[in-house]
Amino acid sequence: MTERKRILTGIRPTGALHLGHYAGALENWVRLQGEYECYFLIADYQVSDYADDIARVRESVWEVALDWLAVGLDPESSHYVIESLVPEHAELTQWLGWFLPLGMLQRNPTLKAEMSEFGKKSVPVAFFTYPVMQVANILLPRAHLVPVGEDQLPHIELTREVARRFNRDFKDVFPEPEGLVGRVPRLAGIDGQAKMSKSLNNAIYLKDDAATVADKIRRMFGGPPRGADEPGNPDDNPIMLYLRAFDPDADEVAGMEEQYRTRGVGNKVLKDRLTVALNDMLDPFRDRRARYASNMRLVRDALAAGTEAHRSIARETMVMVRDALDLGYLEKY
Ligand code: ATP
Ligand code: MG
Repeated sequence: MTERKRILTGIRPTGALHLGHYAGALENWVRLQGEYECYFLIADYQVSDYADDIARVRESVWEVALDWLAVGLDPESSHYVIESLVPEHAELTQWLGWFLPLGMLQRNPTLKAEMSEFGKKSVPVAFFTYPVMQVANILLPRAHLVPVGEDQLPHIELTREVARRFNRDFKDVFPEPEGLVGRVPRLAGIDGQAKMSKSLNNAIYLKDDAATVADKIRRMFGGPPRGADEPGNPDDNPIMLYLRAFDPDADEVAGMEEQYRTRGVGNKVLKDRLTVALNDMLDPFRDRRARYASNMRLVRDALAAGTEAHRSIARETMVMVRDALDLGYLEKY
């Protein structure tokens, strides 16, 4: 019997999920869940930037789980895991921190960019070390594949480096995992900023109702000012980028892009089309979310079962790690 390869990936419980999460990550998870044994992590150890709002974290655990169910991640075949209920994550983070040079964190471009967003506020120690915990997240279930948005790739590189060192210096315990970026590596915000993000307040949420989506698109940034029959560069217009990402008819979108470049297309036409495309995509998600939201016991059961399954693999890995590091102190006498 061949064992299925494993996926480990996760999301922080800091709010409901948006189109960026979907196009950058979730869509791949849904596609791969049949092929791989999947561990989907709600990374609640890693929200130290929300330490002043634990109520939000608590609420967001449910929001994230509902969004996962909504997009069709099947908790029967995959595992929904609450990170802090598997404390082996913290233990492995501590051991791996022994073998990771400080400079590798200081040079990490994603971490650097995120830390600069703190401005005058001080950065919690746990924030600075969260990439180490991500390394532990990936290595704990001995995962092979990590489907994530582009911003997470430096952490996967770090993971590969740690796995190589550990395997070389101690025992061959960890597969060297591969990253897999989604169809849209980084989805822009509706305000035209480079990344859709809840903290930038420029997101369309998977749970937004049809009227909210229509309204957000009406107010969406439409590229540099341009008349309806003035040609332009479609790459500068996030409405066009969203059509590329979410409209099911790629040929028609390509035709519109061509027209945009040569004769121009009005933003109103693009926005109307985008509203229909997005609401068509989101409708089945909304229906599934509503069904689960009216039976939260099912959501609870998914989280409890997935977390339990993950714990048994975590224990197994920690036995291997302690053995590799030769830490059986009490076995000496
Ligand atoms: P936000 O930026 O909205 O606060 P977050 O950074 O807290 O969200 P994470 O839990 O860090 O969300 O990210 C979850 C996954 O979604 C990661 O794989 C990340 O790369 C991906 N992701 C988040 N935003 C985007 C985006 N705008 N485009 C593509 N992928 C994204
Ligand atoms: Mg992030």
